[in-house]
Amino acid sequence: MKVGVIKEDAPGERRVALVPETVPKLHKAGAEVLVETGAGEAAWFPDSAYAEAGAAIVSGPELYDQADVILTVTRPGPATVSRLRAGQALFGLLAPLTNPELARSLADQGVTAVSLDGLPRRLSRAQPMDALSSQANVAGYKAVLVAAETYGRFFPLLITAAGTARPARLLVLGAGVAGLQAIGTARRLGAVVSGYDVRPATRTEVESVGATFIELDSAVSAEGEGGYARQLTDEERRAQQDELSGHIARHDIVITTAQVPGRRPPLLVTEDALKAMGPGSVLIDMGASALGGNVAGSEPGQTIVTDEGVTIVGADNLPATVPTAASNAYSRNISALLLAMTRDGALTVDLDDEIQAGVVITHDGKVVQQATAALLQPTSDGDADVDGTGN
Ligand code: NAD
Repeated sequence: MKVGVIKEDAPGERRVALVPETVPKLHKAGAEVLVETGAGEAAWFPDSAYAEAGAAIVSGPELYDQADVILTVTRPGPATVSRLRAGQALFGLLAPLTNPELARSLADQGVTAVSLDGLPRRLSRAQPMDALSSQANVAGYKAVLVAAETYGRFFPLLITAAGTARPARLLVLGAGVAGLQAIGTARRLGAVVSGYDVRPATRTEVESVGATFIELDSAVSAEGEGGYARQLTDEERRAQQDELSGHIARHDIVITTAQVPGRRPPLLVTEDALKAMGPGSVLIDMGASALGGNVAGSEPGQTIVTDEGVTIVGADNLPATVPTAASNAYSRNISALLLAMTRDGALTVDLDDEIQAGVVITHDGKVVQQATAALLQPTSDGDADVDGTGN
């Protein structure tokens, strides 16, 4: 089996799917590793390091021609998809729930698509493969550094001859993997940190990393399937937004990380909440997306300063801005999954396996992963529910 590592082509993407350290592990399992020229350069892994680890450095066309399995970090663009051929396998964070049409075209091309975001993360044997967690961890850390850089004051309490600076008050909304890492990082920088989530189980986690948990009077349990949150009803959402606004106004920095799988990120910070924040306040919206984010008016990749002097940073692919650490972790995740699917030096697909039933999106010309296939079913109005809104 030949495993190819492509040079990512998405704008700003600096990660690489496999780092040199992981090459010998694949060799041991009987795989040959091909690396596209310059694939690891932006994450500070030169071609020479891959060659020393035993990989062959090849051009893009050679890689697509020869590789049986192609490893990528993010969802490939149309140029990459058009280069894939029937019988090839593509491993990456393909986000099929937010773009089921990609799954359909990969199935039509006869490509076996394996997406790490479909992993049943709670299975203990899946944990070394959990790229969503490893990348969310990097993102949560970096969000705090972006906040610190944007904020015009100190994070810690500082007592100096020139006076005393009070510590920054920082609120993290959404206490999943990214949120908990953001809380821990902000605490290490000396901020006074609060956290909030709709899943009641997060209270002890928030408190265990040193933050105060914010309890809302309107609280409902939004524990959904598999440990994820469910989408709130309109009424629940309005009550949550109203009550959160008062808490938001009392903080200098708000980092939002709230996500509901396959759905638009919930709006947590409304325009009215923004108006109530003091000048110099900072919001980092990790939920910013083309569909809208956790913060009213945020745009992915854009920094906006409101008329009231509040800076809103629409975070966009934060893990790509910590490329070496993010690639090291991702490489361990993707290789663990690939090795778990390798028998006698070849890729074997077994949809009866619980992990594979989650991650294998297309195989044998069909969209086989249930959640993605369901999105491609025509809805009552005859259209597929490709944006995950049910409309
Ligand atoms: P995520 O990225 O899907 O969402 C981030 C957080 O946003 C979640 O904690 C969610 O509850 C919260 N959220 C959603 N809607 C919200 C709203 N309206 N208001 C406030 N908060 C809202 O989450 P994640 O980081 O991927 O983690 C999801 C779950 O998976 C968690 O239960 C986590 O503990 C679990 N997990 C388990 C393992 C494991 O068992 N090994 C590994 C990773 C994650």
